[in-house]
Amino acid sequence: MQMIHNAIDGKKVASASRRIAPVYDPATGEQIAELPLSTADEVNAAVAVAEQAAAAWGATPPLKRIKPMFRFKELLERHADEIARTISKEHGKTHPDALGELARGIDVVDFACGIPHLLKGEFSRNVGPDIDSWSDRQPLGVVAGITPFNFPAMVPMWMYPVAIACGNTFVLKPSERDPSTSMLIWELFQEAGFPAGVLNVVHGDKEAVDAILDHPDIKAVSFVGSTPVAEYIYARGSAAGKRVQALGGAKNHMIVMPDADMDQAVDALMGAGFGSAGERCMAISVAVPVGDKTADRLVEALAPRIRTMKVGPATDPESEMGPVITAEAKSRIGGLIGQGVKEGAELVVDGRGLELQGYERGFFLGGSLFDRVTKDMTIYKTEIFGPVLCVVRAGGYEEAADLINRHEYGNGTAIFTRDGDTARAFASSIEVGMVGINVAIPVPVAYHSFGGWKRSLFGDHAIYGPEGVNFYTRLKTVTARWPTGIRGGAEFNFPSLK
Ligand code: NAD
Repeated sequence: MQMIHNAIDGKKVASASRRIAPVYDPATGEQIAELPLSTADEVNAAVAVAEQAAAAWGATPPLKRIKPMFRFKELLERHADEIARTISKEHGKTHPDALGELARGIDVVDFACGIPHLLKGEFSRNVGPDIDSWSDRQPLGVVAGITPFNFPAMVPMWMYPVAIACGNTFVLKPSERDPSTSMLIWELFQEAGFPAGVLNVVHGDKEAVDAILDHPDIKAVSFVGSTPVAEYIYARGSAAGKRVQALGGAKNHMIVMPDADMDQAVDALMGAGFGSAGERCMAISVAVPVGDKTADRLVEALAPRIRTMKVGPATDPESEMGPVITAEAKSRIGGLIGQGVKEGAELVVDGRGLELQGYERGFFLGGSLFDRVTKDMTIYKTEIFGPVLCVVRAGGYEEAADLINRHEYGNGTAIFTRDGDTARAFASSIEVGMVGINVAIPVPVAYHSFGGWKRSLFGDHAIYGPEGVNFYTRLKTVTARWPTGIRGGAEFNFPSLK
């Protein structure tokens, strides 16, 4: 059985931990690797190495720091197929979907290549008599990232390319469900020519996470995962004096107005609801058609598409949707579907009990569609994180928008309409961080920043893009006067222009 190693100081290191987690191929249900869950001592060793590398790396001229970043990008592109296959093997998503996630990660590497421009600061001459002032952004030192299973390439790449281009060194704690992608990408990172110790990978669970949160030499923590853990990370990391950005879960609604292009809305809902088996933080899990006529048309169009969706392993190029991540996830999602039925929602398509020949032990579910879901139901309140789409019927736009504004999550949302006034009102007043207008998955491009509102993000900074640069740097402002012969004597009043 393959044993997954940590990566510390430019080398792969076997963990000494006796706690081992299994890694599965979700399509077959077979265990394919063993993952030692690192001890706090192993985290501390990685932090010590990162701390040692931080001074020289932070002092390296930004343009020199960027040279290996360009090579890293080239290597990622050259190895894209192999990386995507590694993602699919442990996550289960289809090959084109894995390539898509990688491409969005590479976009962040692209952005990181231009970061010197964002570090150059501002200069003001003559802020006082013969006094000049400048501000620039300096690295923090050692920073860490803790990432979820659902984007094993992209989400870590939201973090370390930006942090490292800003002059920090990094400790990554990937998800224990699909750890191999991080290791493959780390090898390419080293091959690109970054100094040892700039990027370190330590695998593990809560023990490793707590060691990160409590370590005095880690200055900032980026987290992406579920809301209860995000809230915990934010509280514990902040209490330890760190800067923390903790991105949490979601329940993303898509309003379908009566004037929407129904074909476009249905296509969008199929992709956004069932792509990656609904295991995306930007998945649409609630469709909100406005008016019963719109709702009837929508459900009628969706149901046959969901029933005939091709569910299968990533190795089958025909597959549109793969398995969910674990047997536990499959039974949790199945349980929530049962709960929805019990609470009175109308189960139009039931994805439970799907059997795929040759993959009987795989963690597959078909797509499910619920109609007439109401806001008091468990399936509406909970993030299901699976291939289940809920339809909540709304009487008018105001009712639909109010539903979204009252939900505890505020990650992404969309409206499908042809009406500019409605779309504009939606964009300006909806209480959600990322908004799509006739775009179902409005993930911001790499030179903007990604972040939800409400209980989808704890902290003050969104991730990657300019917000990422601000998160991974701190502002310093210098006020300077060179001796020019001015002799004003001691000044006891607060300095100001007279
Ligand atoms: P998760 O919260 O279970 O795990 C995320 C990370 O936290 C993992 O590295 C895990 O090892 C660690 N962790 C888990 N439990 C912990 C604990 N008790 N103490 C300390 N660390 C712990 O999330 P997941 O199941 O891997 O990912 C799915 C979740 O991530 C969903 O809720 C999804 O919405 C969310 N997500 C959010 C975004 C976003 O940008 N907002 C992006 C991707 C995923």
